[in-house]
Amino acid sequence: MRKSHGPAFRKQLRPLIECAACRGKGVTQGISYELDCLACNASGWVCADTGAALPLEDLVPQLNMKLRNVTAELNRARHSQGGAHEQYEQNNRRGAGGSNYTGD
Ligand SMILES: [Zn+2]
Repeated sequence: MRKSHGPAFRKQLRPLIECAACRGKGVTQGISYELDCLACNASGWVCADTGAALPLEDLVPQLNMKLRNVTAELNRARHSQGGAHEQYEQNNRRGAGGSNYTGD
């Protein structure tokens, strides 16, 4: 049974920008090892409005939305490319086979 939790549950995609402190890597170079970047909660992203790291409970769903958008975009790009190619090959095959088919 699912219930809507109302406005409190609504998540909005917030503009994120690359963290300037770690240049989006999420880590900074320590003396002999890499440290989690504190400026962005090691995410590599900060809020575009405030320039500050989002709290983790906000950051995770924000990154999820961002990742889903990017993944969907990638799939779309891959699909439209592959789709056009397949379509062309299918038409070609059908055209050649159709005209040469004699039936015996
Ligand atoms: Zn950072």
